[in-house]
Amino acid sequence: MKNIQEIRAQFPILNTMVNQKPLIYLDNAATSQKPLSVLNAIGDYYKSLNANVHRGIHTLSQEATTAMEESRKKVQHFIHAAHAHEIIFTYGTTDAINLISRGLEGVLTSNDEVIISELEHHSNIVPWQMLCEKTQSKLRYIPLLDNGTLDMEEFDKILNENTKLVAVNHVSNALGVINPIEDIINKAHQFGAWVMVDGAQSIPHLQIDVQQLNADFYVFSGHKMYGPTGTGVLYGKEEILNQLNPYRGGGEMIHTVSMEKSTYADLPFKFEAGTPHIAGNIALGNAIDFMNEVGMEFIHTHEQELLKYALDELSQIKEIEIYAKHAPRSGAISFNFNKKGVHSSDVGMILDKLGIAVRTGHHCCQPIMSRFGIPGTVRASFAVYNTTEEVDELIKGVKFAIQMLN
Ligand SMILES: *Cc1c(COP(=O)(O)O)cnc(C)c1O
Repeated sequence: MKNIQEIRAQFPILNTMVNQKPLIYLDNAATSQKPLSVLNAIGDYYKSLNANVHRGIHTLSQEATTAMEESRKKVQHFIHAAHAHEIIFTYGTTDAINLISRGLEGVLTSNDEVIISELEHHSNIVPWQMLCEKTQSKLRYIPLLDNGTLDMEEFDKILNENTKLVAVNHVSNALGVINPIEDIINKAHQFGAWVMVDGAQSIPHLQIDVQQLNADFYVFSGHKMYGPTGTGVLYGKEEILNQLNPYRGGGEMIHTVSMEKSTYADLPFKFEAGTPHIAGNIALGNAIDFMNEVGMEFIHTHEQELLKYALDELSQIKEIEIYAKHAPRSGAISFNFNKKGVHSSDVGMILDKLGIAVRTGHHCCQPIMSRFGIPGTVRASFAVYNTTEEVDELIKGVKFAIQMLN
């Protein structure tokens, strides 16, 4: 499947009309659309396989368990993890980060330090603030430079023997900037710190090899990679996951329970209390099949072409400012109109009238907006089913909005 029209045919929603115009969906960084194989997998599960996993001796339960564990292996191979039990099913990136931060409550002390960056999604800021408040650990951050990239000189300065964890995103959802994650991991490891990579925006676009990166944790959401909402993944190195406490207790995650004390199950079940999103976790495997079928190489190349084209065209419009214009980029472009008093939402509303879905506002990244002294940006973000014709429509739409708002 290397033909865009063939790929588009897998996504029924792309035929939707919005405000009497054909939908042009450029809000993929918020959530991607889902191919038929994923939609069908969810329906098929409930139609013919529905049973609770890991508990039943009966046939359906065993088949549902097998299907979900097959999906876990697909995730493992997709990110090149060493073991399937290093893949924890979560309900999304936010859930995965909270799992780690809560799990570290018994590990961090007041001598320890956590480093995040100014370029993070709120879900990679707030859990660390909560953790550091509880453990009295120190929270530090890598500042953002004017060009939209991280201040790596400052990173060298704040990294020290007390740094226990560095938590940064691989690709920024707000600006589309690719961070020098290999460099960050290597430097952190020199000080014995663990690194958690928020891969919510990299996993849909880049080939990820967690072992080659040597990431200690790598987390992402299913719904931004053509999979269902309510699914996500926490990858962690076995020996590190074993040091974390589970923060949700309940069924499925125990080895033995008495009225006084319980012992926990082995990985991955220790962190998967309660009935999981079985249908979703299975369908996540179908999303991975889709991406493999199209090919990560093809996805990456096609999206890079769209980005370059959109960036070239937008750069010629003197009425707009593009953020992190020259930084390494994946997935998204963020911009604003120069004209005073024009808000990103004004632009978004006009584009919506033309059937073009973009995101406006702070993108769950208020610190980045504060850093640039703006309330928000207009963000166009791409997936493999987007076309150059759609970019042309976006450019036309932006020019139309400039006229309207003048
Ligand atoms: C979307 C996103 C999150 C949060 O993901 P959820 O699916 O909402 O849990 C975290 N970090 C980044 C970079 C994101 O893009």
